[in-house]
Amino acid sequence: MKQDHDLADQDTREAVTSLAKRRGYLWPSFELYGGMRGFYDYGPMGTALKRNIQGLWLRLWVGEEGMIELDSALVNPRPVFEASGHLAEFEDFLVQCADCNANFRADQLLEGLHPNPDALSEEELAGQLEEHGVTCPECGGPISSPTSFNLMFGTRAGPGEGREAYLRPETAQGIFVNFSHLYRLGRERLPFGVAQLGRGFRNEISPRQGIIRLREFNMAEVEAFFHPQKRQWAGDLRKYADTQLTLVPNEGDEIRVTLGEALEKGIMCNEALAYFVGVTTRFLIGVGVDPERLRYRQHLQTEMAHYASDCWDGEAKLSYGWTELVGIADRGDFDLRRHHEHSGQDLRVFVPFPEPVEMEVERLTPVHKELGPRFRGDAKAVAEALMEADASAVGADGMATIPIPEADGKTRLVQVPPECFKLETVVEKRTGEKVLPHVVEPSFGIDRILWTVLEHSFTQRKGEEGEAMTVLKLPPVVAPVTVGVFPLVSKDGLDAIAEEVDGKLRGVGLRTLYDASGSIGRRYARADEAGVPFCITVDHETKEDESVTVRWRDTQDQERLPISHIVTSVKQLAGLD
Ligand code: AMP
Repeated sequence: MKQDHDLADQDTREAVTSLAKRRGYLWPSFELYGGMRGFYDYGPMGTALKRNIQGLWLRLWVGEEGMIELDSALVNPRPVFEASGHLAEFEDFLVQCADCNANFRADQLLEGLHPNPDALSEEELAGQLEEHGVTCPECGGPISSPTSFNLMFGTRAGPGEGREAYLRPETAQGIFVNFSHLYRLGRERLPFGVAQLGRGFRNEISPRQGIIRLREFNMAEVEAFFHPQKRQWAGDLRKYADTQLTLVPNEGDEIRVTLGEALEKGIMCNEALAYFVGVTTRFLIGVGVDPERLRYRQHLQTEMAHYASDCWDGEAKLSYGWTELVGIADRGDFDLRRHHEHSGQDLRVFVPFPEPVEMEVERLTPVHKELGPRFRGDAKAVAEALMEADASAVGADGMATIPIPEADGKTRLVQVPPECFKLETVVEKRTGEKVLPHVVEPSFGIDRILWTVLEHSFTQRKGEEGEAMTVLKLPPVVAPVTVGVFPLVSKDGLDAIAEEVDGKLRGVGLRTLYDASGSIGRRYARADEAGVPFCITVDHETKEDESVTVRWRDTQDQERLPISHIVTSVKQLAGLD
């Protein structure tokens, strides 16, 4: 297999992994019982970092963009994933070693041997594995042919046989199945957006890359709903027109352009998708992703998920190589159409025209002698519904899908064969139209973003004796601890003043690190390594002038600030006001 990462990358990965564990960011779950691949726990620092990253995400999407938030169920019944296509299509290809039984993802064994193994079909994978004579990377034994493996965790809800259910592999379906509630709550207009933070579960075949590939992970997803002919978000595109981007289109070379230029040159064609790339870039850089190690790569047609028509991945350069952090996909009306058809509920929405228009429409006229025998008691309701419908209800197979009202006020979709109606062109005055909204989805993996933030913030400088000192340069808005508070010595009343300062800061909700042990240099070093952006030291001068020393992590510069304004000063320095 190709060795795509050099030693420096491995060194960085090991140093960050060890720091993350030592300082309470994250570590593998269930170590007490030997661990289980694909599961990680966040410690005190990691939990706070994750929450701060999620906080900034909410501030942008729900705060600035005005989307509404949802928290939907993690365990979903089978019909949800029958409709979404996950039961049939959400799979990877598995190969097994005949000697040691180790499992691998077939496409991963072809990395470096094929330009895009991710996009290969089962037969193509089998052909390529054979052509390259791939053997087991662990023991060199022969490997099986690839077989498809569905990535969803199945379970049963309720005792005994219960109901067949699955842990959700993405949060998005929760938004689609709640669409009717959400559309009403979003004040029945397009475009509107829904944001959801929550866990997703995928039974990955061989997760081996820390928190990059987990079986249980944290997602942050936005589903923005548009009129089918108008992919334009409400926000002003000029806001992001000057955002610098590195783009890798699916045709042509990597290019550095502004977002405005990318639209002008037609590299990105979808305005809404481009706007979301702008918001995403601001978010990622804001939480600490290095802009020089960030790019957007367009999917090849063959690589696209079963629902997507255009997709750009936000990728970060990591010690693991370029890694997808965010997928921004145009899902068209795929999901709503499938739920509309599978649930039998009419999920179309009425969009009024600015003013009534006269137009030619193709109407469906019922053929009663065919309807009667076929639909019996329902024939009258079907005939009425046919007269309400127009040619848009007729699918490629010639069948009309129409909603008929039920006693409980809901609707049921009925398939009507072509011999039961005629198409007639009439001129009508229309006040609006019913459409199934289209969706653009930015989908973020919070764990991968958190890891990127740790790797990209990880730096080293030389200490006084030439030793390597680690400095984790987390942006203050996401740092788990905003400020360190140290008494220079634990006597002469300095500790009492430091405790008072610490109490004031914690009283307004700031996270502090009170540390009175060891030399002041050691305390600074510990705080630098843990990513604390500022430290405050109470020294003998404090007793004379009621001021403290503030020291910056990144520059080691120091300044004196009065205690009377310490809360406002810290908030300002951290960009939290
Ligand atoms: P997807 O729906 O596959 O585009 O996934 C959305 C985002 O979730 C991706 O951009 C990744 O950041 C993240 N993600 C996907 N699979 C995993 C995984 N197994 N472990 C951690 N993060 C993941």
